[in-house]
Amino acid sequence: MTGMRIDLHAHSSVSDGTETPGQLVRSAQAAGLDVMAITDHDTTSGWAEALEAGRSSGVVVVPGIEVSTTWRTADVHLLALWVDAEHPGLVAMLERIRAGRRRRVPTMLARLAAHGITVTEQDVRRVAASAESLGRPHVADALVAAGVVASRQEAFDRWIGEGRPGHVAKPAPELTDAVEVVRAAGGVTVLAHPWGRGSRAVLDEPALQELSSAGLDGLEVDHVDHDRDDRAALRAIATRCALIVTGGSDYHGLGKAGVALGMNVTSQQSYVALGERAAQRHAAPA
Ligand code: AMP
Ligand code: FE
Ligand code: FE
Ligand code: ZN
Repeated sequence: MTGMRIDLHAHSSVSDGTETPGQLVRSAQAAGLDVMAITDHDTTSGWAEALEAGRSSGVVVVPGIEVSTTWRTADVHLLALWVDAEHPGLVAMLERIRAGRRRRVPTMLARLAAHGITVTEQDVRRVAASAESLGRPHVADALVAAGVVASRQEAFDRWIGEGRPGHVAKPAPELTDAVEVVRAAGGVTVLAHPWGRGSRAVLDEPALQELSSAGLDGLEVDHVDHDRDDRAALRAIATRCALIVTGGSDYHGLGKAGVALGMNVTSQQSYVALGERAAQRHAAPA
């Protein structure tokens, strides 16, 4: 098969995307994708519906997660693909992260209240609807619903982005610990948007070499946060560090303006290489 279109990074409404997992897969089909990974933040709860939609639409759905982690004080996102959703260590790690996410919401709302903005937890729950993983984008949606701002983006820029008055960090596991947990659960790991906001400064070549030695499998080079020069530099680093190059749209439905499914894609060669590693890890005794 030639010219397979493979997008290994997409969000549904079980985290901060705006389409249900089923709708997301149908959008992938409409976008002409052959393969799409569902990678919601810190949850696998969208998998069953996405896999079912994949079977009826002919899109191969890769079960994935975008795991929140910490590396040298920076927030770093780790894509975990083909991981065993029932592995106890993985289940515990994800539950801890989601608990931290839930606890953070009232703290954020208290900070916003100090600035005269009155949005309640109930308001956030209402806009978050079916989300298993609560995030800042839901607080942003509540601010939009309350008429405080006009868009998610304005909410981040004015109130809840890093350094803004309503920003609260969330607790997250160490990146290298998360890599180990995902590998133990049979999955492969890809560093998401390594040079996106926040993480560029701490993910230089020595760090990426260290992470490769610690078991990281790949690097998401083709991503909307990276310009041409970033991509060329990251591709060269990936070669030197023996990391597999991937691409993904980081689609969030209406939640992320200017991003379409399939806008960035992964080569068939990288996809096959990652799949083989996952198959080996699943076959190996734990
Ligand atoms: P959280 O994991 O709850 O801290 O929320 C992070 C999510 O919010 C990311 O995955 C993006 O979807 C979105 N996000 C983070 N920073 C920004 C920003 N500056 N502008 C718009 N969206 C953002
Ligand atoms: Fe997101
Ligand atoms: Fe991310
Ligand atoms: Zn993402």
